[in-house]
Amino acid sequence: MKIRTLRRADELVAAGLVSADRRRAVERVARRYAVALTPHVVDLIAASGDPVARQFVPDPAELRTAPAERADPIGDDRFSPLKGIVHRYPDRVLLKPLLVCPVYCRFCFRREAVGKGGALTARELTAALAYIRRDPAIWEVIVTGGDPFLLSPRRLKAIVRALGAIPHVQVIRFHTRVPIVEPSRVTAALVAALDAEKAVYVAIHANHPRELTAPTRIACTRLAKAGIPLLGQTVLLKGVNDDAATLEALFRALVAMRVKPYYLHHADLARGTSHFRTTLAEGRALMRALRGRVSGLCQPIYVLDLPGGHGKVPIGPCYAEGLGDDSWSIEDPAGARHRYP
Ligand SMILES: *Cc1c(COP(=O)(O)O)cnc(C)c1O
Ligand code: SF4
Repeated sequence: MKIRTLRRADELVAAGLVSADRRRAVERVARRYAVALTPHVVDLIAASGDPVARQFVPDPAELRTAPAERADPIGDDRFSPLKGIVHRYPDRVLLKPLLVCPVYCRFCFRREAVGKGGALTARELTAALAYIRRDPAIWEVIVTGGDPFLLSPRRLKAIVRALGAIPHVQVIRFHTRVPIVEPSRVTAALVAALDAEKAVYVAIHANHPRELTAPTRIACTRLAKAGIPLLGQTVLLKGVNDDAATLEALFRALVAMRVKPYYLHHADLARGTSHFRTTLAEGRALMRALRGRVSGLCQPIYVLDLPGGHGKVPIGPCYAEGLGDDSWSIEDPAGARHRYP
């Protein structure tokens, strides 16, 4: 039983997660991008093998940057009016109270930022909340990071209270990986800290059905029983979940634990992640394979966050084709076409 989070190449070698001949290369990766594996994730890798290991164990392939890859893959920087806020869409903002995660996913789209800065100072957080308070168009606040569930219940509660008191903020949404990678943090105190009059949603990042262990299920049940709707976010990753059977098993398992699959993200153009990226055609074929055969509850929206900050758009398969005469040709789930007036 490992008792602490692994961060260094020599620790990964000692734990048998990295072979000795890769140690130097992994040291170079770790100098460039944050590395952390919680004891829960180390046990998960031992039980589940490659699809989980690939997500968290640093790989020398990360030292290769493909030409299209960039430091700010989705163009957040130009929409950040002040530290801790990203405001790209009029009705919602990201609030990033900290840039620390319990684990560092090797494909992370914020890999240039996470694990480097710490938390917002009290003054910076006050300024970020004041920004939200000043703009009545902000209907929803998405608390992300880093991972906001690393904050203590006391600090989470302060954020929920402050946002809950802003009349125009109707929805508070948390994005987290803690229920998967450190489920023991989802304590009664953490769940109580999320309690508000306003709607509080929690979106959980899960990529493979083997991540959904008994402790994760218990953590999700705790959140759900507190009246918190749960959403699932998945990144489409080569060698992890880029086959229809794995995605089907993942989405079914999420729905069965009361988590509605929300987005399937096409992997962003973060530096050193090309070994994870599928093509759009592959992603669309996978979405097609799920349609019709699998419950609608299990169907996320396949999205791409456009480089340059132009926003997220659905890129899934389209079943309707205009025929130019006010009628349409619609493809059914089995692939047959039908005319619709
Ligand atoms: C992803 C994202 C959101 C949330 O988008 P939804 O489509 O509402 O989930 C909001 N702001 C920014 C800057 C984002 O990148
Ligand atoms: S939990 Fe999210 S923010 Fe943190 S490393 Fe993984 S993808 Fe990046």
